[in-house]
Amino acid sequence: MSAGSTITKTVWQYSEMLPEDTMVFLRGIASDYGKVKNYTYKRYSGIKSLGRLTPVFDIMREVRHSGIRTQLGLPSAYFDPAIVEAVADIKGMWGMLKNRIGTLIAANENLSDEDRLYLRTVLKLDKIYAAVLCCEDYEMPKRAQGLDIDVERLNNLLRRLTRKYLTKPKTGGGDYFSIAPSGYAYRDGAICIASRTAGQRIPIPLKDNQICDRQIRICIKNEYAALALPVETTIKKHKDYNGTIYIHIGYQDMFTLSNGVVYGQSLGAITSTETQRLMQKNKERAKMRALYQDSIMSGEQEQAECIAANNLGTQKYDRRKEKELTKTQALINTEINRMLATEKPERVVITKPVTINKTKLASKSANRNMTRSFNGYVRERLSYKCRLHSIELVEINSKGTGSICSCCGAEGKRQPDGFVCPSCGYKATIALNGARNIENKHNSSKNVKTKKNFKTQVG
Ligand SMILES: [Zn+2]
Repeated sequence: MSAGSTITKTVWQYSEMLPEDTMVFLRGIASDYGKVKNYTYKRYSGIKSLGRLTPVFDIMREVRHSGIRTQLGLPSAYFDPAIVEAVADIKGMWGMLKNRIGTLIAANENLSDEDRLYLRTVLKLDKIYAAVLCCEDYEMPKRAQGLDIDVERLNNLLRRLTRKYLTKPKTGGGDYFSIAPSGYAYRDGAICIASRTAGQRIPIPLKDNQICDRQIRICIKNEYAALALPVETTIKKHKDYNGTIYIHIGYQDMFTLSNGVVYGQSLGAITSTETQRLMQKNKERAKMRALYQDSIMSGEQEQAECIAANNLGTQKYDRRKEKELTKTQALINTEINRMLATEKPERVVITKPVTINKTKLASKSANRNMTRSFNGYVRERLSYKCRLHSIELVEINSKGTGSICSCCGAEGKRQPDGFVCPSCGYKATIALNGARNIENKHNSSKNVKTKKNFKTQVG
């Protein structure tokens, strides 16, 4: 085990039930935190700021001097993390934009290899990219010197694509904030956090004794707070982990491996049961809401109040929903752990996620279909656990892994009861055929590169 290689994981800590005035204070901080983030987005997410995002200290100084901090009366233990987080979001947004433009450049047939080399070089150098966007002079980067290209035409293309696809980060829900280490201390089983009055702290009694000395994120729930503590864990190395596994990530069975083993078999059933329960509940709630409206319209005040008190509350509903969510996440983590411990791979091959309509699913539709929304969580956890156990995670393009036969390569049929190949008669679940195609595709691309002999697997 090499010393010093660690990975940050989040450990959750919960407060006791909190008095209403503490909840009001927390909500107020979260609201101002969101305002600082929005201000930073507004001022620094434009084209002109790209070259100025690093170092973040300059931006912090500017925002502090803008007067917004005094106006809000927000202690710097909250103010500074809000700016740092907003700048990180803006950088993330630029990162996504560059990926997108990179893909468009690769697919654009009107560009020569030298054109692409120039554009890619500029995309990598923020200062130069910023100068191009602002039509300012810049020194031609070394890698792009001496190319036979029309610089002005390429710069125009870059400016056009950037304007077209540049987005602003979206404001968060306003139910959380981060606090710098200078803003809290522990006393008598409570974390005491900075109030708006200098020198005064507000105690948040905690359910356990974990302590932290880093920036903490505080998430506000109905009557309590959940604290996300960053904790360093040493990356594990396993000498006995070898070989490669190929995984189809599905909506019914979580993982189907090309060797036929399935992990997370019940996931689809569990989440669709919960999706159905939520749909049913939402239907009932809509009915009660209509009844409530009717009662008000017809002047039956007593009945209206009764419905509001007994049928329209969100607490019980939210609590149950959160409990189900926690349960499903625990199952996902258990199954990933079980797979890694059983298969002991040194490499995991999956397909890249497919984005639908090039935008992320909106939270409303994700609510409606929890199974789909868990796909992102599954990928994130798999990626984290691979890093934690020093396992290489390879993502390949999913093209051709769904519809062709993993035995003979002919176009097959995806039927409700599974995959069937009309050419050779191969039958398997869609997931297993997919996993075997991932294996074939990964091996053949490897063979092209290394020109090694490739053993055909007879299934
Ligand atoms: Zn076939």
